[in-house]
Formats: sequence, structure tokens, C-alpha cells
Amino acid sequence: MVKAIAGQVAIAINNAHLYELIRDQAERLGGMLRKEQEEASRSQAILEAVADGVVVTGPDNEITFLNNSATSILGFATENILHQTLDAFGGIFGKAASTWMQTINDWSNDPASYQPGDSYAEQLELEDGRIALVHLAPVILQNDFLGTVSIFRDITHEVEVDRLKSEFVATVSHELRTPMTSIRGYVDILLMGAAGAMNENQVHFLQIVKNNTERLNILVNDLLDISRIEAGRITLSPQSLDLRDVAEDVLADILRRSEEENKPMAFSLETTKNLPRVLGDAERIRQVLGNLIDNAYHYTPENGQVTVNISATNGSLVRVDVKDSGVGISQEDQERIFDRFYRGEDPLVLATPGTGLGLAIVKQLIEMHHGKIWLESGGEGKGSTFSFTLPAYKKDE
Ligand code: ADP
Repeated sequence: MVKAIAGQVAIAINNAHLYELIRDQAERLGGMLRKEQEEASRSQAILEAVADGVVVTGPDNEITFLNNSATSILGFATENILHQTLDAFGGIFGKAASTWMQTINDWSNDPASYQPGDSYAEQLELEDGRIALVHLAPVILQNDFLGTVSIFRDITHEVEVDRLKSEFVATVSHELRTPMTSIRGYVDILLMGAAGAMNENQVHFLQIVKNNTERLNILVNDLLDISRIEAGRITLSPQSLDLRDVAEDVLADILRRSEEENKPMAFSLETTKNLPRVLGDAERIRQVLGNLIDNAYHYTPENGQVTVNISATNGSLVRVDVKDSGVGISQEDQERIFDRFYRGEDPLVLATPGTGLGLAIVKQLIEMHHGKIWLESGGEGKGSTFSFTLPAYKKDE
């Protein structure tokens, strides 16, 4: 009996130990859970507090979190959207957001398509006219796709300020043209001797005034062009165009100039047979080609070679290459060449009057035509090739 009781007591003591162990473990787990919850609420509070809109989607495209800023920027209520899939809200985001939603869909459907470093940023015009900037990135944990995070920022005000700035520059440069025309006119009259004979010194000084008003004129015209493009005040009148005609026209002009300026250079035009016509604004396309060919002429020493090649790429695009044997462009300059006001440092560039706005305008004009522009150069002294594409003209357009 004593033995049996002793056995029972031993079991009871053992059980008591076990209970104690279990209670300790449970307490520890409870503590950890509380800490985790605190951590999660802290992260949530931080996300709620940021001024930018945050939208998080899960692996199956469901919206798992959005903060207050997101609801106010995008203009809808949290209850309606949380835990719904993104597809149900196509209408709310409007047409502008279709690429954003498509990218999220692509990444969720095929996470392997995501390349490290891939990200996506776009300016969205919302239904009510406000402008939001969205940055999208996938959330990847040890090769597992956990969803995506999108950050929205309301940039309506910045866009408006930028547009007003462009408007201001456009107005000022437009106003500057009237007095400048008058200065140029009177300098020409004086040089012609209409106000009496002038001595050599006076002619020399007036010639300097004339050259500088020419430079000013180029600058003001370029400023007017770029600010009008940026303020959205330039509209294109696209029509069917034969690029060969445009190129022949521009090359005839530059050939005349090369003879006048006594800077001999070989110009040639190569085109493929049955070249399709393109859809473009005649005046603007002439401006683009004129600018590229002017640059090729300016930045190539005499007796150089400038070749324009026009070819059809794949039926829907026409490609133009303007190739020169000139001073070339270094690798680091190539990245900034399309920036506003950027000019190279080659002595031939420094000796040529220019504003550094030409290529920025050309790029904007080509993009307005849904084309692309790029350049290739082997580096300094190795010539350059500027290429662009334009959509081919289709009869039913
Ligand atoms: P600008 O000709 O008034 O300087 P652009 O925007 O047309 O302005 O050109 C910017 C710069 O790009 C030039 O200053 C020059 O350094 C470089 N560049 C443009 N075209 C060529 C070219 N064909 N060959 C070499 N450099 C060029």
C-alpha cells in the first residue's frame, strides 16, 4: 500500500513539474505573441502616419493594407476596398492606372518574371484631374513572392507649379522676340550704311552686336519651343510624310551653308526602296532632322562626311540615322546629351554658338510622335550616329 502511495506521489510530483514547465512555456509563447502584436501594430502605426499613400497587395492580388493617405489620395473608403482583389477596382483607378495594375498582375501570376532591381514608376492622372505619382515594388522574402507595395504621392501642386513656370518662360521669351527683331533690323540698316558712312571700327563693333543678337535669337527661339512643349501648348498636325523629301530639303540647305561658310563637307542620303511614308507633323519633323543634321555639320571638322540613312524597320516603323565623322561623344557625355542646356567641352563645340537645348527639344518632339531617339558613338574623335524612329503611315489613319 505504502509502495503504491509512494508511486502515486511520485507521479503527482512529476505531473506538477510538467505543469510548471508547460505553464512557463505558455507564458513565454504568450509574451512572444504580445511582442509580435506590438511590433505589428507599431509597423501599422508607422505606415498609417506617413504622408504618402501605401497600398499593399498579397500574393493573390488581394489588397491587404492601405493607409489613410492612400484613401484620401485615391479618393475612396477603406471598408470598400480592403480584402478585395485589385481587379474589382479597375474602374476606380481609371484608365491611367492600367499599366500599374497589369504589372502587379504579371508579377503575381508569374513571380519568376520579376528580375532583381525591377521597379515601376508612373504618373497617373486620376478621374478628378489630380495627378499622383506611383512607385511599385514587389515584396520578395527568400525567393518567395509575398505581394507588392505601392507608394502614391499627390503631385498635382508640383505639376501645376512646373506648368506655370513653363508658361512664364514661354511668355517672357515670346515678349523678348519683338524688341529683338527691332534691334536686328536697325543693326542691319546701320551696316548697310543707311545712316551715313561708318569707319572700320564702327562696322566691326556693329558686326559683334549683330552676331550676338543672332545668338540671342537662337536662345530665345529654343526657350520658347521647349517651354511651349512642356506647358503642353504645342499640338501636332500629323499627316502622311515622305521622309526622303524632308531629308533632301534639309540637306540642300546645309550644302548651301557649307559652301557659303567655306567649310567643305560630303553629304549623302541613302534610302531603301519602297520606303513607307510616316505619320508626322511636317514642320516639326523638318525641325528634328534639321537640328540633327545641323549638329552633324557643326561638330564635324571640314572635309568630313555626313550621311543620312532612312530605312523601314519592320513594316510599322521607319528609322532615320544621321551619321557623321566628327568629334564624337564620350561615354559619360552620352548619358546627359539629351538634358536641357547640356553642351560638350570639345573645342569645336565651344567655338560653335549654341544653347544645349536643341537635342532636348528634338527628343520631346520625337516622343510626342510616339517615336524613339538614341545615339551611338565610339567616343571622342570617332564620329556619332543619332537615330530615331517614327510610326509608318497607315492608310486608314
Ligand atoms: P547645341 O548644339 O546648341 O550645343 P544640342 O542640344 O543640339 O545643343 O547638343 C548638345 C551637345 O551635344 C552639343 O553641345 C555637343 O556637345 C553634343 N552633340 C550634339 N550632336 C553632336 C554630334 N553630331 N557630334 C558630336 N557632339 C554632338
